Amino acid sequence: MNWRISVAWLALTAAGCGTAPAPAAGQAADLVIVNGQVFTADERGTTAQAVAVAGNKILLVGTNDAVSALRGPQTRVVDAHGGTVAPGFNDSHVHFISGGRTLGDVDLAGLTTLAQVQDKIRAFAAAHADAAWVEGRGWLYSPFPGGTPTREQLDAAVSDRPAVMTCYDGHSVWVNSKALALAGITKDTPNPTNGLVVKDPRTGEPTGHLKESATGLVNKVMPKPTDADRRDALRKAVAHAHQFGVTSVQNAGTSFDDVALYQQALRAGELKVRAYLAMSTSSSTTEADLDRMEETRKTLGNDPTLTTGAVKIYADGVIESRTAAMLAPYEHSQASGAPNMSADQLDRLVAMVDKRGWQIFIHAIGDRAIRMSLDAFERAAAANPAPARGRRHRLEHIEAAAAADIPRFGKLGVIASQQPMHVPLGDMNSEHPSGPWPDNVGAERYSRAWAWKSIQDAGGRLTFGSDWPVAPLDAGLGIWVVTTRKGPASEPDQKLPMGEAIDGYTRWPAYASFEEQRKGTLAPGMLADIVVLAADVFTNPPVKAGDVVVDTTIFDGRVVYERSRVAR
Ligand SMILES: [Zn+2]
Repeated sequence: MNWRISVAWLALTAAGCGTAPAPAAGQAADLVIVNGQVFTADERGTTAQAVAVAGNKILLVGTNDAVSALRGPQTRVVDAHGGTVAPGFNDSHVHFISGGRTLGDVDLAGLTTLAQVQDKIRAFAAAHADAAWVEGRGWLYSPFPGGTPTREQLDAAVSDRPAVMTCYDGHSVWVNSKALALAGITKDTPNPTNGLVVKDPRTGEPTGHLKESATGLVNKVMPKPTDADRRDALRKAVAHAHQFGVTSVQNAGTSFDDVALYQQALRAGELKVRAYLAMSTSSSTTEADLDRMEETRKTLGNDPTLTTGAVKIYADGVIESRTAAMLAPYEHSQASGAPNMSADQLDRLVAMVDKRGWQIFIHAIGDRAIRMSLDAFERAAAANPAPARGRRHRLEHIEAAAAADIPRFGKLGVIASQQPMHVPLGDMNSEHPSGPWPDNVGAERYSRAWAWKSIQDAGGRLTFGSDWPVAPLDAGLGIWVVTTRKGPASEPDQKLPMGEAIDGYTRWPAYASFEEQRKGTLAPGMLADIVVLAADVFTNPPVKAGDVVVDTTIFDGRVVYERSRVAR
């Protein structure tokens, strides 16, 4: 199918939605949700009490009475008990299969002392005596003096086997002496392109901290997960998503092997989240690679559960490890971080993908990478003024945009895809109260960090996500951050009202994957992906992490998660 067909399909659906036909007389609902504070996430922020579902579509959104009139003897009734009912959450930026794989690893998230980190790894290793490698993730910089962990610190927890612990930001690993030896990393190992083997300044020996592409030196000697392992990871990821009301995910960087896995899961009826896949690229991606992606897109077609049509490009690294590309040097340094590719290479890649009518996600964190990426989009738009389905390119992360670039999102129609939980992670994550993020860039640049409201005020569109496994796959945490954010990282105040926060996890992500005509709002004819929260978050807004609790998740018209069945 080409885009023309999908656009026609969308237009047809849109016509259906706009007129909101009344259900046919005598038509019974398969499922109704009653006694809710229904937030439809439509343009006007319409609210209601109840929702009726028939098959996998929404039949009616209205009063308890109108919806109850559609009840038949077989209708399943979900009582919302006054909680918020919203479209199922759509996480705009995840690494879904890798996230699923981490569910079986040692989880170091949130641990703030070296002793806690070591104890947790030690206990995990003891409980998994048969694992050939001990793998974990989620360490913060704060437990380690100077923000850089050492192999000796990891040897103290695991010395009998290789151990690899991935930083919470996913851009570096901490390995023990066994892992370094197996990977053959010594004082003579050169830094790979875009990577750094951290070495002791006195002895020249590798310290056990590997940044960016240097992580590949260890990955390459680690046992490869089997297809069965990866399929299992995907299964676990789906169940994990349901706990948080997440019914759609957008995968930011997908290999052809991953696509095959998603297809298998879809055929087996296991893919109970809708996945929009952005295909991985590099500076050396060729037209032939894009031809292959085009084949994949045609094969998947316009299936509401599995589609592609986007690529992921990495313009830079992260601020925490000073690999994000900045316009001015980092604090107390001459270095400003190099982009992953030159402006020419980025322009070439963007133009090549844009010309084919594909969407582009660019990971751009530093102000220099953000500017280069916006420039590339601007040049592509000048060269190809009227793409068939419009142009909805996106920047991912956008942590430190220069003030002059903020209005360009609106002007160029570039979607700002941001991950609210990165804000508290950046703040908490240091021996210093302010954290390595602000320490690395200084007060002025910190004051314009994660400027989502400024981008929106200047006409830009926002879409939110988690970057799981970098941050938890919990949209409720993001909603809490977006609606409560304040303090030095937020000048001017970047806080948004509850309705806009929810729109950022429902309506706008659907727009950001060209699917707003079939999901992201609650209206007749839309796919029945719905979340029921334990409280009305408009009158009882979250004040701390964990306050947004999901009671029921409905995917494709069926209940796939109920908190009461798990624990209440
Ligand atoms: Zn990511």
